[in-house]
Amino acid sequence: MNDKKHGEILPGVGCDVTACKYNTVDCRCSAARISVQNEKASTKGETYCSTFCPRGTC
Ligand code: SF4
Repeated sequence: MNDKKHGEILPGVGCDVTACKYNTVDCRCSAARISVQNEKASTKGETYCSTFCPRGTC
């Protein structure tokens, strides 16, 4: 019971970005995987999820 097909919930990833198509009604992430980027980040606000995809656009 550990296959990573699309649509599965990522255990341990909570996300409040409701505008993202991967965000679920209970504020979790349903992407197969996520990537968090900005190698120069030194604060929380400088990190970002590059897997983010606005609903209806991708
Ligand atoms: S892909 Fe990123 S922004 Fe979208 S729900 Fe998952 S963690 Fe949140």
